[in-house]
Amino acid sequence: MKCIRRIYASIFKWVPVSALFTILNYISGALVPAVITVVSVGLFNSAARVLGGEPAQDGLYRYAVWYLVIYLLNDVLYYVFSIALNTGVYEKGTAYFRIALCEKVARLPLISFEDADTLNRKERAEKAVNDEILSAVFHRTLAFLSSAVAVTGVAVVLARYSLWLLPLSLLSVLPYLFARLVRGKEFYYVKSIQAKKTRLLSYLWNLFTTRQAAKEMRVMGFDGYLTDKWRNTRDEGNEELWSVQKKDAVSLLWCDGIRIAGYGISVVVVLLLVLRGKVSLGVFGASVAAFLSLQNSMKDFLTELGRIPEQLSYAGDYYSFLDMPEESDGEAIFPGSFDSIVLDHVSFRYPNNDCYALKSVDLTIRKGEKIVILGENGSGKTTLSKVLLGLYPPESGRVLYDGRPVEDFSKESFYSKISAIAQDFVAYSLTLRENVALSDTARLHCDEEIRTVLAHAGAEQIGNLDDRMGREFGGRELSIGQWQKLAIARGLFRVSELILLDEPTSALDPLVETEILAGFIQAAENKTALIISHRVGLCKLADRIIVMKNGEIAETGTHDDLIKASGEYARLYKAQEMWYHPDFKSTATSRNAAK
Ligand code: ADP
Repeated sequence: MKCIRRIYASIFKWVPVSALFTILNYISGALVPAVITVVSVGLFNSAARVLGGEPAQDGLYRYAVWYLVIYLLNDVLYYVFSIALNTGVYEKGTAYFRIALCEKVARLPLISFEDADTLNRKERAEKAVNDEILSAVFHRTLAFLSSAVAVTGVAVVLARYSLWLLPLSLLSVLPYLFARLVRGKEFYYVKSIQAKKTRLLSYLWNLFTTRQAAKEMRVMGFDGYLTDKWRNTRDEGNEELWSVQKKDAVSLLWCDGIRIAGYGISVVVVLLLVLRGKVSLGVFGASVAAFLSLQNSMKDFLTELGRIPEQLSYAGDYYSFLDMPEESDGEAIFPGSFDSIVLDHVSFRYPNNDCYALKSVDLTIRKGEKIVILGENGSGKTTLSKVLLGLYPPESGRVLYDGRPVEDFSKESFYSKISAIAQDFVAYSLTLRENVALSDTARLHCDEEIRTVLAHAGAEQIGNLDDRMGREFGGRELSIGQWQKLAIARGLFRVSELILLDEPTSALDPLVETEILAGFIQAAENKTALIISHRVGLCKLADRIIVMKNGEIAETGTHDDLIKASGEYARLYKAQEMWYHPDFKSTATSRNAAK
């Protein structure tokens, strides 16, 4: 009920005129069958009297005119209603429901997207929107109420002529109720357990259509395996759905058979009543018409009654997603500048993983430090950066900027004053200028500054600022390394005191990577810079190296300190040393000395 109330409130708020016409149509739909029955009884009776030899009466013409006027008005209203329903309630209404869903997605804590349950719920909520189920609930519940009133109205009229027709017509349409209720529930059950499969299907489909993945698939020869997996998943889903649909079709066929038989029997019963002189010929015509109308209204009523639980279940999914707890927002304005960032006993676990990704991490970062966070894959570097930037809330411990918990700051003020380039950065099929200045669009036309950061990122050769990048819209396609350089330039372009790079250069050759990151460190001279890497190339240039292992800080210090300590860093350094040309070591050292 709460769900229906919320749908009605939203539709009346968003598309009030269309909602009003829809309601008017259903009020008329509720009353017209009974009125038409009364008028047609009058019409039949008058006609019967004329046929019986009585002189033509005014009544016949009056009933005929009434019949036509009601018929016409109903038609005109239905015409306006169709437009209001389709363009207002369905199209516009669904667009608003979609917007509400998108806004909700934006307000959810990022961490909830790591949770399969949230993703399934989101999938079902999207389905409710995509299949226009919320607008359908508005429409269908009105249709249901309207047919309920219509049934009662016609039944009262019908009972005036023969009480026999009442139970007969009821019996002939009841099977619809059961078919719809039972099938509707089963249908919903199948659809809800299919949400996971649907997600897998769309994930696999995306793999086929994403250029990079498609290329890897072809080269590595597993495209056949994935195609089979997609096909099998689709077939399993369809199989489940078809078996429910088959049962549905058969039960509806039975229902129709019984309803038609009921109608036939009722006609015979009234005919017998006529033959025995219990009712007149005029009443026979009127009651057969009324019986048909009752049966249709009853069928509508039961069909809607059976459909509503299924649709309400989907609508319930939509609202249960909309009611999910949102990310709380702080009120304090982040000043942008800070003297220290402190991680105080920070522990973190992903919702779908029992192991701690961060275990009681203690760390202090001082203003202006250039820190490399080093560690093997899975050691917790990315998680550390996300917790540090307030994207994931720690399970225990605190993240403090100048002593103030990061969650105290309003998200908008915090994220507008820091810069971060993630591992899975985006390659924008826009101009070179936009690829850099998207991080600060107010300076979109500051050509000199754009060129400077491009040079710092080693990307000055990529092209003219207004050249379009990426092949989607006919621009130049870049190598992954070039896209990575653009991402770094974008991070540098933003005016911020804190910049974090999460392995955006991992696709580059280790030497080129180190050259670019050295340029980056120079460009970030006045900033606090955190660079996440699993390679040691840059470590000599860093003020401090933090070595992560199994979610803990294994070591921290400068290159020389850590080499002396002969621990994890020394091990990693030795393992990777040969990647770096001897010439590089001298270049890097001299650059460091110049710093
Ligand atoms: P790194 O950046 O050092 O490669 P991560 O911070 O990505 O490491 O991962 C740290 C640990 O957390 C790993 O054991 C990884 O399996 C786990 N992990 C990372 N992302 C998720 C996730 N979305 N859900 C569950 N566990 C995750």
